[in-house]
Amino acid sequence: MRKQYTIKEARTYQGIGLHSGKSVNMRIIPAPVNTGIVFIRTDLPGKPAIPAKISEVSDTRRATSLGWGETKVHTAEHLLAALFVQGVTNLYIEMDSVEPAVADGSALPFVELVQDAGIVAQEAAVASLKVTEPVWVRQGDRYLVALPYEGFRISCLFTNPHPLIGAQYADFEITAEIFHKDISPARTIGFMHEVEALQAQGLGLGGTLDNVVVYDHEKLLTPLRFNDELVRHKILDIIGDLSLIGPVEAHIVAVKSSHALNTELARCIYERFCQTI
Ligand SMILES: [Zn+2]
Repeated sequence: MRKQYTIKEARTYQGIGLHSGKSVNMRIIPAPVNTGIVFIRTDLPGKPAIPAKISEVSDTRRATSLGWGETKVHTAEHLLAALFVQGVTNLYIEMDSVEPAVADGSALPFVELVQDAGIVAQEAAVASLKVTEPVWVRQGDRYLVALPYEGFRISCLFTNPHPLIGAQYADFEITAEIFHKDISPARTIGFMHEVEALQAQGLGLGGTLDNVVVYDHEKLLTPLRFNDELVRHKILDIIGDLSLIGPVEAHIVAVKSSHALNTELARCIYERFCQTI
């Protein structure tokens, strides 16, 4: 059974939120065993805490939001993926706004932040949810399947009608090293034709060419880090969303994943296999 981990020393990080466009000061702080990952909204009266758990998911449009009423955290998934893959199970994340910093649109700055803080093992174990038979969720032509597997692996196919994208497929065994090098640098993707509609819904307000890979009708406005950056980022999002149920032993096969389906699969795995813990 793997150990629980926290960080050695607190670290701070500043930036703006991708969807809210609001500036945020964040502080990651070591936490005792069995705390879990807990966001703390220091800007709200009483500094309410929001645990990063599947039961707290309240919105999955474009990003995964946790919490209820005013006490919310938007777009938690990139930071959560970086913590999860490095094995950090106990952490307080203080924030004075509704959304963690978008940073460069990827999870790499959060991997580096945690590595700079240092990771320490704690005197307690964390159990994995073991998928022992296939489970799946689907919505039209989008679906995710979790298959029995020793380890954690994600195969993902994503398609987009844009002439520069088409179909992208990637398959990774998810380890801290592979995540750091091949997945965490992959950034959020956006399309110029969607910007107005998104902003009308109050989303994407902090998006710029520095933190989103942007395509207009025919061309790419941001140089890519990987030719298949879109599908790698989709894998990053799946990891962040599945982290809400803790470590999972499974092979996830995803076709046109979405935050709604990722969190639905997480719920499904949790409900079906929680007795395997
Ligand atoms: Zn994302």
